[in-house]
Amino acid sequence: MPDISLMDKISSLCKRRGFIFQSSEIYGGLANTWDYGPLGAELKRNVKNLWWKSVVQERMDMVGLDSAILMHPAVWKASGHVDGFTDPLIDCKECKKRFRLDNLKDTPDRDVKECPACKAKIDLRLNPARMFNLMMKTSLGAVEDESAVTYLRPETAQGIFVNFLNILDTTRKKLPFGVAQIGKSFRNEITPGNSTFRTREFEQMEIEYFVRPEEDQKWYEAWINDRFNWYIKCGINKDNLRLRVHEKDELAHYAKACSDIEYNFPFGWSELEGIANRTDFDLRQHEEHSGKELVYFDTAENKKIRPYIIEPSGGVDRATLAFLIDAYHEEKVKEETRVVLKFSKDLAPIKVAVLPLLKNRPQIVGMAKDIAENLMSEIRVVYDDTAAIGKLYRRQDEVGTLFCVTVDVGSLEDNKVTVRDRDTMLQDRVDVSRLKEYLRDRLK
Ligand code: ATP
Repeated sequence: MPDISLMDKISSLCKRRGFIFQSSEIYGGLANTWDYGPLGAELKRNVKNLWWKSVVQERMDMVGLDSAILMHPAVWKASGHVDGFTDPLIDCKECKKRFRLDNLKDTPDRDVKECPACKAKIDLRLNPARMFNLMMKTSLGAVEDESAVTYLRPETAQGIFVNFLNILDTTRKKLPFGVAQIGKSFRNEITPGNSTFRTREFEQMEIEYFVRPEEDQKWYEAWINDRFNWYIKCGINKDNLRLRVHEKDELAHYAKACSDIEYNFPFGWSELEGIANRTDFDLRQHEEHSGKELVYFDTAENKKIRPYIIEPSGGVDRATLAFLIDAYHEEKVKEETRVVLKFSKDLAPIKVAVLPLLKNRPQIVGMAKDIAENLMSEIRVVYDDTAAIGKLYRRQDEVGTLFCVTVDVGSLEDNKVTVRDRDTMLQDRVDVSRLKEYLRDRLK
């Protein structure tokens, strides 16, 4: 059952605490466009770092890439995006709103649909769907003629395909190997919405994994497994994840198989990441359009191979949203509701908050600031003295800070501080000289 009130609570927390802001808010906002605030920027960075660590740093068979958003217009012709990256679009003549055909409600007459906004009947024979290309057009240089037209990339994948030879030449990788890339993509979505779930500007984390054609199934399954388990390892409750295998008639024309990892969002189960077997379609297309042979030379067998490609493709923004939702907990503590974001250690935007118990005692404040500064080079810490301790704890719980270090009057005497654990709320008394080591250990 979708839980819309949960989504409202999370959206309001995100705004109030600086995870996600409406873009250009002082000008009335730009619809469905979002800015990540100080805490959102930390969280999103942690998501990307964990992904990179798992798919590049910890694997011998993977390398990274950072290709340009703007590409030669011929790329989009070869990839099929110019001709095929379209959604059927319907304008409701009554309320003037625009919908994707598959978002209209069915009626007993298959040629008549119902507008989801104003409930007007839409006769598809009189008001047929128009195909709408989702690529965002732009023009390069000072002269705005057709030759200058190109597109903001709608996926990062093409940057990897067109660099296939460069990567082979420079890294001397043997099959199977893969290339990972994180970057912005743009799609003129007809129905953006649900916060950062579907936007027109978003960030992707994509892998193109090149394999021998006869080993495609094995690697397709291995990547589904790896990627599914990554979300669990990052802290998502596995009951909120499921795999949805695409039916044959749902598959994109280039794909042999595709599975989505879905998350149980408050607005229903929806795609977090897709893993597709793209066969050798992309390399063949670019070979045809560029005239460059895009093959791998197998020295052992003395033959050319055009690899098949397994593509795990996920969204940074969708993953970040899912991590936020999954971390959200409300607990009853002494008749009060405690809101806590239970991020995993690696994801938590702030690891440690240093708090003085009394903000008008210069010695306590000085000691707390010294402690924060001492930890800063190694651990993401904040210092806060703008409220009473109870309130400071609640503020840190609400953004998922793992530990609160409190300096009190006793600290001035015994050089010890109180370390409070976010989840158990248990407190340890730790000598300041051992604090860094203690935290290092607990953050492992
Ligand atoms: P959907 O069916 O939800 O539109 P898709 O199947 O078109 O997604 P892909 O082309 O497979 O998406 O893109 C890979 C990933 O990029 C998606 O799983 C998603 O996480 C992310 N993504 C795609 N489109 C958007 C968008 N408009 N806003 C945010 N993230 C997106």
